[in-house]
Amino acid sequence: MSDVNRKAGPTFPVAAGRRSSYLPRPMSVLIVGSTALDSIKTPKAENPRLLGGSASHAAVAASFFSPVKLVGVVGQDFPRRYLQLYKRHRIDLEGLQILPGKTFHWSGEYEANMNNRRTLLTELGVFETFTPTLPESHRNAGFVLLANIAPSLQEHVLNQVRRPKFVAADTMDLWLNIALPDLLKLIKRLDAFVLNDSEAHQLTNEENVFAALKKLHKLGPKYVIVKKGSHGSVLSGPRGIFLCPAYPLDKVVDPTGAGDSFVGGLMGYLAAAKGPLESNLRRAMLYGSVVASFCCEGFGLQCTTKLKRAQIERRVRELEMAARF
Ligand code: AMP
Repeated sequence: MSDVNRKAGPTFPVAAGRRSSYLPRPMSVLIVGSTALDSIKTPKAENPRLLGGSASHAAVAASFFSPVKLVGVVGQDFPRRYLQLYKRHRIDLEGLQILPGKTFHWSGEYEANMNNRRTLLTELGVFETFTPTLPESHRNAGFVLLANIAPSLQEHVLNQVRRPKFVAADTMDLWLNIALPDLLKLIKRLDAFVLNDSEAHQLTNEENVFAALKKLHKLGPKYVIVKKGSHGSVLSGPRGIFLCPAYPLDKVVDPTGAGDSFVGGLMGYLAAAKGPLESNLRRAMLYGSVVASFCCEGFGLQCTTKLKRAQIERRVRELEMAARF
């Protein structure tokens, strides 16, 4: 996989007018992950069967910046209004399989601090036998996000992409516990590995995040991003460490999918950006952080789906100001 120090990308005519007008062709992001129905309980409210899943959160977040191709599976019980929601975000659904059976259903409950979460239920449904097969139109994807799903499925998707420019993967503690050899095999092939701080400690036996980052690079990826929830995130790359703040929120309604929104927003921004990769990646983290903050302000995708690009830009400026002296 090559670095993405892209010069002006390919161009395409945008309108057959009097003056020929050309714009850079927007790079799309291919996203595979879970497409789920989430039942979420917080101390204040309970919301059953919301649109959720790592790929749903990541795809909507990325859609504010780049075209998105979603790869996943849902059952025949998947509400039509959720398909409409994807479509409103112009998410390409050619890679979304609708199979006989039930949609993946996950249920979780938050403690009063809105940080500690307990999984109440995981019903795999059609995910149990899911084998993602990429449509031909998806195989030339430049930017690939392997959102949280079994690492063997993440690799199966990666095997079908021809020459990706940049591949990132997210994961969760479950795969560290039950599919570590698959995950280690996948990590070797990534440009960027994204995980949260407790997973970084679990994988490296290092309590110190910077010591953990050093060990994580040894597993293969040039870039490693550790998510630290409301404490922001840390990127480690050839230029060194970049500390990205979380947007300061004084009220969290539901943090489900914040990590997926972060990595989705990051990849969407990166795919659209021109210039040196690592600078873009640092900026992309600010955008990911901001989209994740909106995700936390509503249940499921309720807040994220109402977002306008201008609101994202406003918070990115605020975040920049918060880190300036
Ligand atoms: P996060 O809050 O970033 O950890 O992501 C929560 C999302 O992960 C929810 O929308 C769930 O549907 C999804 N999820 C939960 N368990 C799994 C799993 N085993 N595999 C894939 N996605 C999952």
